[in-house]
Amino acid sequence: SRFWQQLTRSRSSFTEGLADLVLGKKQIDDELIEELEMRLVLADVGQTTTQALIDELQQAVSRKIVNDPEALFEKLSQLMVDRLQRVHQPRPPLNEHPHVIVVCGINGAGKTTTIGKLAFHFKQSGRKVMLAAGDTFRAAAVEQLITWGERNQIPVIGEPGRQDAASVLFDAVQSARARGTDVLIADTAGRLHTQGGLMDELKKLVRVLGKAQPDAPHEILLVLDASIGQNALSQARLFHQAVGVTGLIVTKLDGTAKGGILFAIADELGLPIHFVGVGEQLADLRPFEPQQFVDALLD
Ligand code: GDP
Repeated sequence: SRFWQQLTRSRSSFTEGLADLVLGKKQIDDELIEELEMRLVLADVGQTTTQALIDELQQAVSRKIVNDPEALFEKLSQLMVDRLQRVHQPRPPLNEHPHVIVVCGINGAGKTTTIGKLAFHFKQSGRKVMLAAGDTFRAAAVEQLITWGERNQIPVIGEPGRQDAASVLFDAVQSARARGTDVLIADTAGRLHTQGGLMDELKKLVRVLGKAQPDAPHEILLVLDASIGQNALSQARLFHQAVGVTGLIVTKLDGTAKGGILFAIADELGLPIHFVGVGEQLADLRPFEPQQFVDALLD
């Protein structure tokens, strides 16, 4: 699709020209395999995942399943899609009123912006959306969320100066229920004095939501900044251990990020990527599609 083409054009990708490189060769040799390997590592795919891909390619070559550069390129594309598809899952249906989504992530990852975009996404599909300002440790975060609420013309529960995030979220669930809200999106703190403190706060908020409404939260989405590369992985592990993340939103794929980090994320965390962020505007959020993404990356 046009969008994915724009995505790859707008950044300098180390996989750019990969098709030309492979398809320009007359035969598969060690030099070509080495060049491929280097490009994948440079594209942030990560050592482990790159090695696995290269091993599978070499096996296919030695078994004569793959005999020429064109087949090699197709095989690589297929292996990459498979790795993303393996962990790809649809999001749960929006059956509850409200369907409660917790959004977590380290400050700066793009959490607040992503919540604004998510609200836009759901509103576009005809849902009644509400936001809850659960990052009470940062007055600016609450103000920012209120601004996103205004842009989307949807209610935001919470105001600057309110200290207790748990009670904000509890109130938000009550209010969402009273108004017949379809989707309640809860912001959470992204920085505290200690990492342990941050995870404890998050666990508390998840517990409170469960008390406010059985089965809530229905989704716990972690926002990761693609441009921090492999560091995103260790962050994700901490959040997942603490609260059981249900899916990922990877932001800033329009910037310096090389996109390969998505394979490392899928491989090492086994968590589905639900959306990617590709800019700072409301409409710059896309449902993630493995095949389209790989086609764009290998373009
Ligand atoms: P938070 O601290 O995690 O809530 O992060 P913010 O939502 O405040 O975002 C931090 C910065 O990243 C802001 O300047 C956002 O405009 C920017 N940002 C967020 N998502 C994206 C994205 O997908 N692409 C780009 N280029 N910038 C983004």
